[in-house]
Amino acid sequence: MSLTSFSLANRKALVTGASRGIGRAIAEGLASAGADVAIAARSLDDLHDCAAAIHDFGVKACPLAMDVTAVADCRRGVSEACDRLGGLDILINNAGIEQVCASLDIEEELWDRILDTNLKGAFFVAQAAARVMTGGAILNLCSLTSERGIPTAVPYGSSKTGLVGMTRALAVEWAPLGIRVNALEPGYFRTRLTEAFYENPAWQSAMLANIPMQRFGELDDLVGASVFLCSDAARYITGVCLPVDGGTLAAI
Ligand code: NDP
Repeated sequence: MSLTSFSLANRKALVTGASRGIGRAIAEGLASAGADVAIAARSLDDLHDCAAAIHDFGVKACPLAMDVTAVADCRRGVSEACDRLGGLDILINNAGIEQVCASLDIEEELWDRILDTNLKGAFFVAQAAARVMTGGAILNLCSLTSERGIPTAVPYGSSKTGLVGMTRALAVEWAPLGIRVNALEPGYFRTRLTEAFYENPAWQSAMLANIPMQRFGELDDLVGASVFLCSDAARYITGVCLPVDGGTLAAI
């Protein structure tokens, strides 16, 4: 065991939902650790800034358009990433959406849109990736809602709890293929997904009271855990869901 086992030099990674927020931070973090990175979102135009930041680390950036709700698009996107990078060692299953709604008012369209993106999309991207990977690591972005009941977030919480089940089952099924499957459970991070909550000072105070470290997460807080779980330093770790939440889950 040496510190070089934390390096991602010469690894080929795909990050979904890399146009902004957590996905972009992780994509740039993998690049800083030496990986070439394919970055995906629905619109190519939104990926230019992330691609430029990745290039600055002296590694390859491959922006590609992919809508994870369409299985054919998942397969095409993974295939394109693999072709352009010359292989695939790491998948970050990050693309996700949320829309709060009282459960008595949820319509089928909302349920399907959230589940199709966060759970079905994650599965079919993982499946396409595992078909071309010869070992490596998959990291799924789960949530505090994977572990706790959060009102008005039932489709989202169901998708993220399902993603934990998927993480564990795939970890067991694909261990013989040399593919490790783990998850991160971020706490509270200010992004476009969560921006509306942060505009409410009362919400901020109530949430901070639940965070033992007494601050919200910064996107960079997720990079170390992501690089570690995708690196050889974590070579005996699979099926794990790691909270990165300032102690929130430990406390509630
Ligand atoms: P953002 O809304 O900032 O970013 C979401 C990303 O997902 C964007 O790049 C978006 O790109 C992409 N995306 C959305 N729908 C699709 C789709 N159908 N196909 C492909 N890409 C898509 O969210 P966050 O960065 O906050 O969240 C990232 C992940 O982290 C999500 O899975 C979220 O559930 C999870 N998470 C976030 C937390 C937080 O506090 N922010 C806490 C816990 C988990 P585009 O719209 O351009 O396609």
